[in-house]
Amino acid sequence: MKSSPYNATVVAKILLTPDLMILRVRTDTPREKFQAGQYTTIGLLAKEQRSSNSVITLEQLPPDFLIKRPYSIASANHETSNFEFYISQVKSGQLTPRLFALSQGSRMWVDEEILGVFRLKDTPEGCNIVMVATGTGLAPYISFLRSHIKDNQDIKLAVLHGAAYPWDLGYYSELTFIQNSFDNFYYFPTLLKADKNWNGLTGYIETHLENGLLENVGIEINPEKTHFFLCGNPKMVESVSIFLEKYNYSKHSQTNPGSLHVEEY
Ligand SMILES: Cc1cc2nc3c(=O)[nH]c(=O)nc-3n(C[C@H](O)[C@H](O)[C@H](O)COP(=O)(O)OP(=O)(O)OC[C@H]3O[C@@H](n4cnc5c(N)ncnc54)[C@H](O)[C@@H]3O)c2cc1C
Repeated sequence: MKSSPYNATVVAKILLTPDLMILRVRTDTPREKFQAGQYTTIGLLAKEQRSSNSVITLEQLPPDFLIKRPYSIASANHETSNFEFYISQVKSGQLTPRLFALSQGSRMWVDEEILGVFRLKDTPEGCNIVMVATGTGLAPYISFLRSHIKDNQDIKLAVLHGAAYPWDLGYYSELTFIQNSFDNFYYFPTLLKADKNWNGLTGYIETHLENGLLENVGIEINPEKTHFFLCGNPKMVESVSIFLEKYNYSKHSQTNPGSLHVEEY
């Protein structure tokens, strides 16, 4: 009999909506210490059940095929056995409908490696950090804030989070709590489909940037002074990148350091 590839256990599954969840997983053995912003790969066998609200895919996989996808880590970087992921369900997808069918105690696979160059701690000392996300692109910033907010009180930090409805704003309470606890942290959730009960920002992130949202809290849009991180929907990444190009921002890579850091999902 083939041995199971599984090496981790689900310790909590928090459904924020039927298609959005926080998944906490404990690995059987610890991983190497990682940097906030990085991701790991998780997986389930194709024979696992799909969620009841998913749609059947045309592509049928062999039952023992391990379906693997990368996910940003939302937990603090000192947690090397307990990992948190913020996941949205792609109803026609291969892995996420199976992840949404898991329950506490279910077994799954988590890669030994933690990878990625979307590392918020690499920002030069004294530079402000603006973290822009749509949807689950928020995850790497939660890891960064949980790991490093206390060591970064001499700079300004902002999270701009775009979502459709109020219930899509995962980590709203945690981010509001951080904003109330740290004078140098600003949280700007903005909704595209809010109703009259929502008192906060509405519309696209780039519109708020154009209207001086950051300057109003003393954050200058200047590549020498402020690093931008963009994570999530490719359309948001593209339009915010175009906006920042006007301010001479260039995309960061291993070989060409820049003040604009990008991770697309
Ligand atoms: C570095 C990295 C980090 C990531 N971190 C996260 C994370 O923290 N949380 C998270 O939810 N996802 C994250 N993703 C995306 C994730 O890896 C999967 O691509 C996603 O969950 C879909 O997997 P699936 O197997 O269900 O769908 P698949 O079977 O891979 O895709 C099925 C179809 O859906 C389309 N599709 C894929 N993703 C989406 C989407 N988001 N919305 C609409 N259609 C889509 C595909 O183009 C494809 O046609 C990350 C991706 C990368 C590269």
